[in-house]
Amino acid sequence: MFNSLSDRLSATFKNLRGKGRLSEADIDGTAREIRRALLDADVAVPVVREFIAKVKARALGAEVAQALNPGQQVVKIVNEELVGILGGQTRELALAKQPPTVIMLAGLQGAGKTTLAGKLAHHLKSQGHTPMLVACDLQRPNAVKQLQIGGQRAGVPVFAPHPGVSSETESATGDPVKVATDGLAEARNKLHDVLIIDTAGRLGVDEELMRQAADIKSAVGAHETLFVIDSMIGQDAVTTAQAFNEGVDFTGVVLTKLDGDARGGAALSVASVTGKPVMYASTGEGLKDFEVFHPDRMARRILD
Ligand code: GDP
Repeated sequence: MFNSLSDRLSATFKNLRGKGRLSEADIDGTAREIRRALLDADVAVPVVREFIAKVKARALGAEVAQALNPGQQVVKIVNEELVGILGGQTRELALAKQPPTVIMLAGLQGAGKTTLAGKLAHHLKSQGHTPMLVACDLQRPNAVKQLQIGGQRAGVPVFAPHPGVSSETESATGDPVKVATDGLAEARNKLHDVLIIDTAGRLGVDEELMRQAADIKSAVGAHETLFVIDSMIGQDAVTTAQAFNEGVDFTGVVLTKLDGDARGGAALSVASVTGKPVMYASTGEGLKDFEVFHPDRMARRILD
């Protein structure tokens, strides 16, 4: 039994050791295995197609490095392409020259934005920053309260619309753009160097939601807009990512729920259709279930 793509590709080529260059027939044999592995990892179908075409073009006629057999040569090409699409290097936040750096979170409801806000605040605090959270999700009942709990756990203050008022009342009366700009003013006053803004999500992509997120983004001049996406989203990753890319022109991607069964194909789908780097991964409900995203590790996860 060959379980990993690397093993399967090596098997495809097992009789071809010593061959100088890869031929079209060799590559067609491997393309099927690559397609299967990517679909198994839940990479979106059009992304798989484009990826295979790219790998084929690069592999055709490629000289097999002396230390490798042809299978290993194809694996090397696949790996390099995967890492490249996923952003190449790890990318940390671009901090504003003039603090506070404003980070806005956007994504569908249930993607894990509010949970992530607390984790990101915790992560930045552990690096010596003095973050503040702003609760602009005034749609989902309890989102404000949930952010306040996350902030408390992280030891980070939360700016919310009407302190002490129940979330039901807030959702009826709050203006998220005003909350965001008031939060920014408060962060300047209190000398917080990073502001993290949680925004509302809907179950599906929705024009009003997108307009609201875009309005918040321009009102506060966000330096980073992070698109938060559930890694279990599967084939819907492409349309959702495209809608948010057009709607809020995000600067980076955060993949959540990587502790589940998902093999991370959504990372490849989103990065491939938007060209934006994946920056962080969320791997559980706890404050510390959070990682800086490493493209090379994800490539391995998809290949294995
Ligand atoms: P939001 O609507 O985007 O703000 O989503 P939430 O932050 O409320 O998250 C939705 C649900 O997913 C909650 O039950 C979270 O506890 C859960 N959740 C968020 N991130 C993760 C994660 O990385 N792993 C797991 N297993 N659950 C998560």
